[in-house]
Amino acid sequence: MNALYPWQKKDWQALLRERERLPHALLLTGPAGIGKLRFAERLANLLLCETPGSAEPCGECEGCRWFAAGNHPDYRLLTPAEAEEDEDGKTKRKQPVIPVDAVRELEDFVNLTSHRRGVRVTVVAPAETMNVAAANAFLKTLEEPPAGAVFILVAHHWRRLLPTIRSRCRQFPLSLPDHHAAESWLAAEGVVNPQLHLAHMGGAPLAALEDASAPWLAQRNELLQHLANPAALDVIGIAQTLEKTRLDVALVVDWLQKWGHDIVSLGLSGNIRYYPDWRDDLQRLSVRAVPLLEWQKTLLSARKAAHHPLNPRLVYESLLFAYLDALRTRAVKPQ
Ligand SMILES: [Zn+2]
Repeated sequence: MNALYPWQKKDWQALLRERERLPHALLLTGPAGIGKLRFAERLANLLLCETPGSAEPCGECEGCRWFAAGNHPDYRLLTPAEAEEDEDGKTKRKQPVIPVDAVRELEDFVNLTSHRRGVRVTVVAPAETMNVAAANAFLKTLEEPPAGAVFILVAHHWRRLLPTIRSRCRQFPLSLPDHHAAESWLAAEGVVNPQLHLAHMGGAPLAALEDASAPWLAQRNELLQHLANPAALDVIGIAQTLEKTRLDVALVVDWLQKWGHDIVSLGLSGNIRYYPDWRDDLQRLSVRAVPLLEWQKTLLSARKAAHHPLNPRLVYESLLFAYLDALRTRAVKPQ
C-alpha cells in the first residue's frame, strides 16, 4: 500500500490535527523527490476510507480496497501525459504537460454525484505542468467547487502556478527529511553510498535513490572530469559526445548548474552542496567564483529553454565555451 515515508509522519500528524478544517483545495509543496505524491495519495485514500474516524486508511473497507486496486470511482489522478514517441520510436523531447482535455474530463467527474460517500478526490501532480488552457479550465472548477469535491495539488515549483489558483488553495509545505532519516532509508533500500547520492540530489531521498542507479552515472562522471580539467577541455568533442548520448538537455544543464553552484558557494562561503566527491577540484576552481556567477545566469536561461532546444550540440558548445570564458576572466576584487 501507499505507506508514508518515515520522514513524513510529522507532516501527516500536523495535517490530521486540522482535519476538520481542511479546505477543499490543498497545495502540497516542496522539492522534487521527497515523496509529495505518495503523501497526496495517502491523504486521498484516507478521505475515501469508509471506516469512520480513523487516522490512517484502514486498508480493509470497500473504499480502501477500491483505492488499492487503482479503480476507486471517486478518485482521479491527473499527471502529465507520457512522452510521445514518433514513428522511429524516438522519444520526442517535449516537456510533459497536463492538457486541457484532461481537465475537461475532470469537470465531468467532479460534477457527477459521487458513487459512494459524497467525497470526490482529485490529485493533480505536478500541478505546474498544466498548460495555460488547462490551468484556466481548472481554475473554473476551483472557483465553483461542487459539494464534496476535494483537490490535492502537488507542486515542485509552486510559483509557476497561476496566482489565482494558488490563492484558492491552502498551501502545505512538506518537510525535507533530515539527513539521518534519509540516509537510513536509502541504506535500507540498498544504496551503497547514501550520503553522496543525497548530496547530488540536494537532500531529496527519492531522487537520491534514482541517482544511485541511474543509467547515465558514467556520463555524468565523465563530464565532471572534463569540467575539473578546464585546461584540457575539448568543447567541440564533448558537445558531440553529449549529443550522441541523447540525454535530456535539462538533465545535463542540471549537472552543470550544480557544478557551478558548488564552485561559487565554495569561493564565497566555503560550503559545498552537491558534489562533495569533487571537493579538491571544486576548491581549486573556486578562485574564479565571481566570474562564474555570470555563467550561472547563462545556465539558468539554458535551463528554461532546455526542453525544446533546436540543436542540443550547439547548446552544449555554448555553455562549455561560456564556462571556459568565465574561468579565464580575471576576478574583479570587490570594492
Ligand atoms: Zn478504509
